[in-house]
Amino acid sequence: MANYFNEEFETLPRAALEALQLKRLQSTVARVYANVPFYKQSFDAVGIKPEDIKSLADLQRLPFTTKQNMRDSYPYGLFAASMDEIVRIHASSGTTGKPTVVGYTQKDIEIWSELMARSFMAAGAHKGDIIHNAYGYGLFTGGLGAHYGAEKLGASVIPISGGNTKRQIMIMQDFGSTVLTCTPSYSLYLAEEAAAEGVDIKSSKLRVGIFGAEPWSEAMRGEIEANLGLDAIDIYGLSEIMGPGVAIECIEEKHGLHIWEDHFLPEIINPETGQLVAEGEKGELVITTITKQGIPLIRYRTRDITSISYAPCACGRSHGRIARMSGRSDDMLIIRGVNVFPSQIESILVRVEGVEPHYLLIVDRKDNLDTLEVQVEVNEGIFSDEIKVLQTLSRQIEKEIKDMLGVTCTVKLVEPKTIQRSEGKAQRVKDNRKL
Ligand SMILES: [Zn+2]
Repeated sequence: MANYFNEEFETLPRAALEALQLKRLQSTVARVYANVPFYKQSFDAVGIKPEDIKSLADLQRLPFTTKQNMRDSYPYGLFAASMDEIVRIHASSGTTGKPTVVGYTQKDIEIWSELMARSFMAAGAHKGDIIHNAYGYGLFTGGLGAHYGAEKLGASVIPISGGNTKRQIMIMQDFGSTVLTCTPSYSLYLAEEAAAEGVDIKSSKLRVGIFGAEPWSEAMRGEIEANLGLDAIDIYGLSEIMGPGVAIECIEEKHGLHIWEDHFLPEIINPETGQLVAEGEKGELVITTITKQGIPLIRYRTRDITSISYAPCACGRSHGRIARMSGRSDDMLIIRGVNVFPSQIESILVRVEGVEPHYLLIVDRKDNLDTLEVQVEVNEGIFSDEIKVLQTLSRQIEKEIKDMLGVTCTVKLVEPKTIQRSEGKAQRVKDNRKL
């Protein structure tokens, strides 16, 4: 059966889990009310005192926290621990202006390491594995988060970080890497570069890939598994909440990501109204941290769109599962009134014979009408075919996108390897309308 890093807590029966959540929520609320002026003011504004939190449902009475609140408190305004207790500082790059800063106490680092170790085991990794950690090391939480978790697990971690792909391929082969951690788009790039070097990455020792930091589709999983010859597992996290390891798929089901509910309280809300949606319904993920000391967050609006299920899982873990992210409520494109997530277009493209999962969406406005151009790479075989074949393929993709998403677009097939590769998060959208 399943292997657990912390069997007792990973399989805690629901009633015991909820009792623990309430106790931890109450202590977190008391902590932020006492230590963080922002929370004291926002709780006072709605007339709530920490002792009013008597059940998990009372969480809904508390106000949301947003990325803007974090920016306004830059850099340390939301910290609930004094600086002499903070042992680590990370930051996520904002799309505009100053980064979002987070601080960890020693206890926070220990919990993060454990949750990453649990995540590795859920993904099918274990002590004895050689973990090739190609997440970037630095202010970004990906590299160090995975690193500490791998050590906690007792695996051998290669802190290769991002970039220098040729060297990555050499080290992966020579060192016998068995687990790969990076962004999903980078894994495909690695496979492509390996093939160009004449290396058959499928026959390498890689067994498991743990991919996150950007949304990806089920269809892309198929591509990655076929191209790299491994089990591709989706991991979720964000620096504001902790970093990687907030939630992960188990290898038994690969169907929804267990969110570690003894440390995080998930809610799914309608992003317009702020009201909870029903189990299984899509909405924005809101997370309350219930054990963090450095920077606990109450009802943090992640802007990630997902749904949650509490159905039992084959792996035996009792923690609810969030669906793989289907986009962000703030990267959603609205094209002629139609809501479009890049991941939806991706899932159509990867099903089309002859095209590669490397694409760029160019949105523009001409004569007051939104236009969408989908640039997608074709493979070598197709590209050498006659123009007529290419035209037929373009029309076919345009029709599929129209049928599936209800949006009209122009598909432009481009030569293999012409769309810019990223060694971090892939840039999928160029929205020229804002210029
Ligand atoms: Zn499971």
